Amino acid sequence: MTTHTPAGRKPGRLFFANPGPTNIPDSVLRAMDRATVDFMGSDFLAVYDDAVAGLKRLLFTEGEVFLYTASGHGAWEATIQNLFSPGDHILMPDAGYFSRTWGALARGYGLTVEMPGTDWRRGPDAASITERLSADKSHTIKAVCIVHNETSTGVALNLPDIRAAIDAAGHPALLLVDTISSFGSFEFRMADWGIDAVVGGSQKGLMLPAGLAFTAVSAKALDAHRHATLARFYFDWTKMLARRHRSFVGTVPIAPFYGLLESVRLIEAEGIEQVWHRHHRLAEATRRAVSIWSGNQGVGFFCTDPKRRSDSVTAVKMPEGHDAEAVRAIAYDRFNVSLGGGLEPLGGQLFRIGHMGDLNEPMILGTLGVVEMSLRLAHVPHANGGVNAAIDYLSAT
Ligand code: PLP
Repeated sequence: MTTHTPAGRKPGRLFFANPGPTNIPDSVLRAMDRATVDFMGSDFLAVYDDAVAGLKRLLFTEGEVFLYTASGHGAWEATIQNLFSPGDHILMPDAGYFSRTWGALARGYGLTVEMPGTDWRRGPDAASITERLSADKSHTIKAVCIVHNETSTGVALNLPDIRAAIDAAGHPALLLVDTISSFGSFEFRMADWGIDAVVGGSQKGLMLPAGLAFTAVSAKALDAHRHATLARFYFDWTKMLARRHRSFVGTVPIAPFYGLLESVRLIEAEGIEQVWHRHHRLAEATRRAVSIWSGNQGVGFFCTDPKRRSDSVTAVKMPEGHDAEAVRAIAYDRFNVSLGGGLEPLGGQLFRIGHMGDLNEPMILGTLGVVEMSLRLAHVPHANGGVNAAIDYLSAT
């Protein structure tokens, strides 16, 4: 008798515990399953307008939102093209794979990208931003770019602190924020927090397939756009504003907007603050498990600052000499649980448990149970009882 499922069909559901893309609710899948309609027709325009209005409510902005048929990289690119001119100087703390990649993209467009190194296990300090901007007397720095939630490290930053850091320097730089793995999962308020450009995507907290991305902009960012001269065409906000949809220079994709309307409906029916609370609770259950596993000199948190541990993804650091990929392979091949891996240069050093989107207690407990089994089967040091700690926490809150 075999002790595990032989190669081939895996019975039951795939537990998708990657930190994005995330599980898509059945009602969102059903909403998108429809025949083509005219994207200029009144039926679709009503759906489109409602979906975009809902997106603005969830972002806490009344400003313009430009939508793209792209994944997050497209929104990064569009934001750079539309806000800057060749040679412009921007400040982008290097805090993980995603800030580093966004910086590389901006360099590709000929910007001067200043990327102060940070400890990836806790991210940048707000004070260092004040210090750098205060030294920039001639206001050469045009923008500060921040990844709200570094999906590669599981470190989440406090955006009001960053806003305050810029204000403390009395500096006019724009504040650009990548909210790809925080939006829809934990607190985010564009207008109240004084953010000028917000980069987001569909495939995480919004519980949609990848392929719809956006930039939400403040009036100050729109004004900067009017003076920006980088080459652009398909993603040009000025061209988009001239269209009925105020986005999309080409064909407007239909299906994502039926999906977006339904995902906004689901989030608002639950209540956005309740959605944030649910994410916090499931993240905390995960953290309780990791804390126990860290006994016996076992696996631990990659993020060293407990206040910065993300409510949408937990990065679990391997003990020296152990390969995270072995744990991931057992979880996936034997138990049908998909975890995130370490991204360059952290490959093998950590695995990531995504806890964002359409998720409940049995899903997180199932995932944690499989992680604990996989640690055991891969002979990775840890203490037993992580799942029990998660159960204790979830049943008491
Ligand atoms: N920014 C963050 C924080 C991300 O987590 C990701 C993807 O996971 C991206 C940007 C890139 O987005 P995409 O993979 O959708 O192009």
